[in-house]
Amino acid sequence: MEWEAVIGLEIHAQLATNSKIFSGASTAFGAEPNTQACAVDLALPGTLPVFNEEALRMAVKFGLAIDAEIGRTSIFDRKNYFYPDLPKGYQTSQLFHPIVGVGHVDITLEDGSTKRVGVTRAHLEEDAGKSLHDEFPGMTGIDLNRAGTPLLEIVSEPDMRSAEEAVAYVRKIHSIVTSLGICDGNMAEGSFRCDCNVSVRLKGEEEFGTRTETKNINSFRFIEKAILGEIDRQIDLIEDGGRVVQETRLYDANKNETRSMRSKEEANDYRYFPCPDLLPIVIEEDYIEEIRNNLPELPDARKERFIEQYKLSDYDAMVLSADRFLAEYFETVVTAAKDAKLAANWVMGELSKHLNANDTSIGDSPVSADQLGGLLVRIKDNTISGNIAKKVFEVMWSEGGSADEIIEAKGLKQVTDSGAIEAIVDEVISKSGPQVEQYIAAEPDKRGKMIGFFMGQVMKATGGKANPGAVTGILKKKLDALCD
Ligand code: ADP
Ligand code: MG
Repeated sequence: MEWEAVIGLEIHAQLATNSKIFSGASTAFGAEPNTQACAVDLALPGTLPVFNEEALRMAVKFGLAIDAEIGRTSIFDRKNYFYPDLPKGYQTSQLFHPIVGVGHVDITLEDGSTKRVGVTRAHLEEDAGKSLHDEFPGMTGIDLNRAGTPLLEIVSEPDMRSAEEAVAYVRKIHSIVTSLGICDGNMAEGSFRCDCNVSVRLKGEEEFGTRTETKNINSFRFIEKAILGEIDRQIDLIEDGGRVVQETRLYDANKNETRSMRSKEEANDYRYFPCPDLLPIVIEEDYIEEIRNNLPELPDARKERFIEQYKLSDYDAMVLSADRFLAEYFETVVTAAKDAKLAANWVMGELSKHLNANDTSIGDSPVSADQLGGLLVRIKDNTISGNIAKKVFEVMWSEGGSADEIIEAKGLKQVTDSGAIEAIVDEVISKSGPQVEQYIAAEPDKRGKMIGFFMGQVMKATGGKANPGAVTGILKKKLDALCD
């Protein structure tokens, strides 16, 4: 039997406003508990919400970026439930008339194929506070700093058929919201998180299977793992004669498995109704057009520009354009190094390798774009070879400093002085009797390959600092002279 997965995602993107969606309290991350919660966030009697227009502007930007209908009249609804971190007793959200309607994004898969994924809707809502279970023994603390933080909830159609497609979709949405500057995209801090709805069915079947929803996954890798695990779990369950129950599950990254949190039967009836404290939001065509005319460059357009302007391959352009900050970094390196291919190789190679290994985002890279640009300039003007440059980069990464400072301090300057190289070549030749014999005995057209051995010896003697081009020339000249 061949199974097929069906996946639909709900993404919560925290909007990068300075203040909350219905109050003037700050949204900055990491403050002391309850220092950024005002009377409105605490739901004190007599307080009223005032809508933050910046959140609207950001939601409209997103809608335009995914080619969606913008709701000309959108309405806030109350989603009623009780929880200690929700002092109002309801979350202000949008159910019936969201700000963003049907849209779509195109994703690119590893085999180079593309696929269109539908976005059902995106609506504005507020975040809840946080319960702290580990601070006080035997008690739970409530931190309301996050209460009232603006969120855009982006709901996809159940269009994805594999974990790979789901991750590509999440990356695309991440890339769009960060490019628009409406979300900082920081998954570790919870600014961008994902609920994964997964079901399975036999291939060829029309009807969807029963789905589960795994909540609040906050890394691309965990999204992939949680979905893969959930697909396997459901298939095993059905093949063993069981059936999938509709439920909410939690992903445990330590055990790499999902487990049940609550079933749909126990789910709340939220008794949604329009919020009487907030007027409907009515927007005019002019407002939308003004935002449309000022949209920043989006990932798809940036990718095309990179191919055109820097002559990058499709793949390189895709990798370098997806993340706005990586793209900006790359372009700064190109400006300094004046060589797009070299810059692309280093940003996608050495730099990305170090970022991944240290779990560091491009924004926190200890090597700045200017520093890397300066290093590439020294490769291009032959001050150092590519191999030595990797050593310089290593020092730059761990100790800081400019390429010139490190080259100077560590004495890594390439030896290009032909007199100095000749002396070393002479010494290598005099010490390599058998290899020289072989060289002389070889057919002239086989000799080229044999240079490698002598090259290696010269590099060893100079600590890799001899200019490879110069060494090859001198070696050939001297060895061929011995053959006459
Ligand atoms: P709810 O309001 O209960 O969260 P929705 O109908 O809004 O349910 O769907 C939530 C998400 O679940 C959407 O992203 C949708 O694409 C996805 N979804 C719906 N049905 C299925 C299914 N059978 N399998 C996988 N995903 C699904
Ligand atoms: Mg849901």
